[in-house]
Amino acid sequence: MPVPAHTISTSFAATAPDVAIVGAGVAGSALAIVLRRAGLDVHLIERSDPFRDRIRGETIHPWGATELRRLGLYTLAVADADAQPQQLWQTYRDRETQTPYRWADDFPDAPNGLGVNHVALQNALLGEAARLGAIVHRPATVSFDRAGGRPSLTVTSAAGESWLQPRLVVGADGQNSATRAWAGGTARPDPAHHHLGGALIRGLGLPADRIHQAFFDGGFVFVSPQANDFARLYLVVATPTAMEIQASADPAGRFVEYFRDALPEGTIGPSWESVGPAGFFPNANVPVAIPSSRDVVLIGDASGRNDPSQGHGLSLAFHDVRILGDMLLEGDDWSFVPDRFHATKHRYFETLRQHARWNERQASETGPEIDEIRARIARSRETDPSAGGFAAIFAAGPDGLEATGEARRHYLGLDLADDVANVA
Ligand SMILES: Cc1cc2nc3c(=O)[nH]c(=O)nc-3n(C[C@H](O)[C@H](O)[C@H](O)COP(=O)(O)OP(=O)(O)OC[C@H]3O[C@@H](n4cnc5c(N)ncnc54)[C@H](O)[C@@H]3O)c2cc1C
Repeated sequence: MPVPAHTISTSFAATAPDVAIVGAGVAGSALAIVLRRAGLDVHLIERSDPFRDRIRGETIHPWGATELRRLGLYTLAVADADAQPQQLWQTYRDRETQTPYRWADDFPDAPNGLGVNHVALQNALLGEAARLGAIVHRPATVSFDRAGGRPSLTVTSAAGESWLQPRLVVGADGQNSATRAWAGGTARPDPAHHHLGGALIRGLGLPADRIHQAFFDGGFVFVSPQANDFARLYLVVATPTAMEIQASADPAGRFVEYFRDALPEGTIGPSWESVGPAGFFPNANVPVAIPSSRDVVLIGDASGRNDPSQGHGLSLAFHDVRILGDMLLEGDDWSFVPDRFHATKHRYFETLRQHARWNERQASETGPEIDEIRARIARSRETDPSAGGFAAIFAAGPDGLEATGEARRHYLGLDLADDVANVA
């Protein structure tokens, strides 16, 4: 859904806004909404118009849906972006349908995730930010400087050039953040273990009240249904397999083949079609180091990308928005906010990063060694189904969890008495 032209306003009058947000993706636009509701003067700078399908996050785990509720954005996501509530997690193993897991049974306060088209969500959030009075520069480029002790941004769009001297710059410009580079931040990806691919398919005829995860030897397919029988297929496989599929004549067709062949015979009919790009991405977490600052703060992927095969990115972005929004609305002195926010984010980002790494090998490896690891994890869950609290991470998020060495050993069952001698 394109943002109607009349909701986009452009102004060159306000040169010293409270906040300039670079990047109007989900993180930037959601923050603009929160700050506009509090009456702050907000400029949003977005380089792309229209947004296009870049194969991004479209499953919002239950903890992310909770963050949306806390931000007062859940209804907007459902009503304006057609987000589909997903109450169940349906798995398939050995081509058999397993009993679906119902989030509400264990987490009555986080009873569902959401499946949503990413571009529709971006448009809904940006449209709302503009409706609330955020000044949107789009499509626009930005260059950064400092003048008179303040950040100084030159924004160039079809309307000409404008000069902004905000109290605070928020970099919400994604994993290759230009704001981060200007602020002296660095991003160092972890080594990639496997690849995650995405394809948009219409006509699979799957129930939309659940996510679907089908396991096969060497990986899994994760399917997030959206409105109108659209679905995003995410395929997790070893990197050489991903490269081979990417180079094939019909990558999207191969995604569907993997899915179809992991489901009970006849579940997927012939009448589906590929309706978007298909492509692969390394699973690597990308932690970020950010120098101390009084007036530049990073949120969303700009401040660290979680392994996309874990599907936490959108939830993390909404969590960032809530935490940073609360800090900014707490008082007038913002000078401590960037460092305080970055320190807070570092803690919950690290928890998700380590948890992702604990799961990497099980995602796509095959053979007797990984079978033994899986068996040991299964034995460990018999004695502690909560996995030290980490089993709840998709429903409750990372807060309150600490990814220590001890937590890792417990998660992987390395602390089981009969296995201690086999610890690698
Ligand atoms: C293959 C894949 C699958 C994923 N699956 C999931 C999933 O299922 N669930 C989930 O929660 N997450 C998932 N993610 C992660 C999720 O998509 C991201 O974490 C999320 O989109 C981050 O949002 P963001 O707003 O921080 O950044 P982005 O979505 O990257 O938005 C950044 C915005 O900034 C703009 N921009 C960039 N540079 C500039 C500039 N210099 N000037 C102005 N504007 C600029 C961009 O145009 C864009 O609009 C997935 C990621 C990938 C790659």
